[in-house]
Amino acid sequence: MKVEIVSVGTELLLGDIVNTNTAYLSKELAALGLAVFRQTTVGDNRERLLRTLESAFSENDTVIITGGLGPTDDDITKECVAEYFGREFYFHEYSWVKILERLTRTGRNIITENNKKQAMIPDGAIVLENFCGTAPGIIIEENNKRIILMPGPPREMRDMFEKSVKPYLEKYSKKKFISKYIRFYGIGESLLETKIKDIMDRQINPTLALYAKSGEVLLRITASAEEEIECENMINEQLEEIESREGVGEYIYLVGNEAISSSQTELHSVVANLLIENNYTISIAESLTGGKIASMLVEKSGISDSLLEGIVCYSNKSKITALGVKEETLKRFGAVSEEVASEMVVGVAKRLNSDFAIATTGIAGPNSDESGKPVGLVYIAIYSQGEVTIKECLFFGDRELIRYRASIEALNETRKNILKKL
Ligand code: ATP
Ligand code: MG
Repeated sequence: MKVEIVSVGTELLLGDIVNTNTAYLSKELAALGLAVFRQTTVGDNRERLLRTLESAFSENDTVIITGGLGPTDDDITKECVAEYFGREFYFHEYSWVKILERLTRTGRNIITENNKKQAMIPDGAIVLENFCGTAPGIIIEENNKRIILMPGPPREMRDMFEKSVKPYLEKYSKKKFISKYIRFYGIGESLLETKIKDIMDRQINPTLALYAKSGEVLLRITASAEEEIECENMINEQLEEIESREGVGEYIYLVGNEAISSSQTELHSVVANLLIENNYTISIAESLTGGKIASMLVEKSGISDSLLEGIVCYSNKSKITALGVKEETLKRFGAVSEEVASEMVVGVAKRLNSDFAIATTGIAGPNSDESGKPVGLVYIAIYSQGEVTIKECLFFGDRELIRYRASIEALNETRKNILKKL
């Protein structure tokens, strides 16, 4: 395969934006063992773009284009490519549904006719879903030639490359590929990126990619080589360097072979496994999280011997009767307090004598309680074989997000406490 990367956009020619797409693609293609023979940049101009295609295919068999898939009249990439291959357009229903969904979700209720342009697909093309924007990507194959079109915005392009284009191109590579996924909790994406930037920058093989999840970060390491064992060795070496780096390694909570569900946490399954494997029991008392933590742990089959009970104690009455929280403590410190969290966790642990226990109490919002404590204030109490630790947290976001953050934070605290006992 001989590849030419074509960037479309007059802004690139004017120097208004730096061509990071080409740098990214070149690196990724090198890692795939695919040869990039030429990089071209062309303005938003029909004749010049057609001539660029002509020239690209006279020397190469694969062209990857980014930019110019937007809804406006100056976005002409798709039209030129269809013209070059002599293909008509048809209206792609699925893409239109996805475009509408995204436009409505992002609050744009005025949908104009030119939005429809993005759902028009050349006959016989492969459609690549855009999970970060509206314009779908396109692949056209003809007589041992292929062209791949992706949107210009780097975030959209990278996501599409990762999810669709890379798996498509791997078929053309003679090499073997192996990926490992490292999950971090407690460190933000940008801080992590700063801490391992030197590693990320120098890497062509293995390649590293960072993804922010709600509340956590996923790092993918992909290695390519003739043999799988070589890939494994390269990945392990890379992993060791990352694990041993100060301010990085301690935030890793899982290294796995699959991305699993790419948007969800895996903290609950890690905690469930730790409990099951070590025959530990746990009880949970949840106020603001309302059963979320218990429900997340229950996702894991085999947890029944470990999870003794989960109590949703939303009211003060329940905190008193089910957990033995003192009325006096509630009055003096309020339901959202370190003192109440502590009594809750001891109370729930004592009921069935569990090894570990979790208690949560906090203000999920949107309104504060009468105490005037801020929305997002959460106390997480962990009982760990007789010891109680309390963590005070302040989470931002809407009600749902605060409750989710509190749940995963509680799971992470539990994880750390179990590890201390091993
Ligand atoms: P849109 O729907 O945003 O118009 P598009 O697919 O038509 O998307 P362009 O209009 O070409 O893409 O570019 C949109 C934006 O994406 C540019 O303003 C620029 O910020 C960024 N961009 C485009 N091409 C590149 C590139 N090669 N490198 C870095 N950024 C780019
Ligand atoms: Mg555009």
